[in-house]
Amino acid sequence: MRIILLGPPGAGKGTQAQFISKKFDIPQISTGDMLRAAIKEGSELGRKAQDVMKAGGLVSDDLIINLVKERIAKPDCVNGCIFDGFPRTIPQAQALADAGVEIDNVVEIRVPDDEIVQRLSGRRQHPGSGRVYHLQHNPPKNEGLDDVTGEELIQRDDDKEEVIRERLATYHEQTSTLVGFYQDKAKESGAAPHYHQFDGTQGIETVKEQILSALD
Ligand code: ADP
Ligand code: ADP
Repeated sequence: MRIILLGPPGAGKGTQAQFISKKFDIPQISTGDMLRAAIKEGSELGRKAQDVMKAGGLVSDDLIINLVKERIAKPDCVNGCIFDGFPRTIPQAQALADAGVEIDNVVEIRVPDDEIVQRLSGRRQHPGSGRVYHLQHNPPKNEGLDDVTGEELIQRDDDKEEVIRERLATYHEQTSTLVGFYQDKAKESGAAPHYHQFDGTQGIETVKEQILSALD
């Protein structure tokens, strides 16, 4: 089972990826989390990605495609995986297809721009695991601390209003075109993937139930 989660920053992709990962026992592949880990390590990839991420732009397709190819070759991906935040451009989607990686389901989570800024300003993350919380909508049990490890939560550098607006613009310019790309593919006779759309303004639990039952 290979799944792509599509939607603007803050739509709830990471949140829902964790539920899907648990239910189907397949790993979540978040290119954003992998890039943040690379920055923390100070690797060459991290150095190359840092500035563009801070500005709300996209890291180059070549770097991302290599990163994902290496990741999906690992043994935990034999039964499938969830792509969270990848692909973000047509060349990335094309590279996946050219590599023969078949996608079974594309899950689009829709949230209007005006709600995104509020959502992302309240987001807090556990950097070690990628677990996400929200100050109002999904608070941790103990303020400022991860539920599982008890470690401190952080606010991402790019979750500031001016960068959020830039990321939204990037989404509309470069990523939203993938909606049509995968819808068209789904319409081709007999060809995977199935395309599903969800209203991401509903509560986290409601969205979860709808997605899990669609994938079942
Ligand atoms: P993405 O991975 O698409 O950027 P996240 O899963 O990180 O999105 O969610 C962004 C923020 O919004 C987080 O703080 C998360 O807790 C919160 N959130 C996720 N889904 C919902 C929802 N359905 N309703 C309200 N807040 C949500
Ligand atoms: P969000 O879901 O909140 O937008 P991510 O964690 O997915 O954030 O991504 C954070 C940043 O990492 C993006 O703004 C972009 O700079 C970079 N990034 C992540 N995934 C990709 C990708 N597939 N292609 C290019 N850049 C990416």
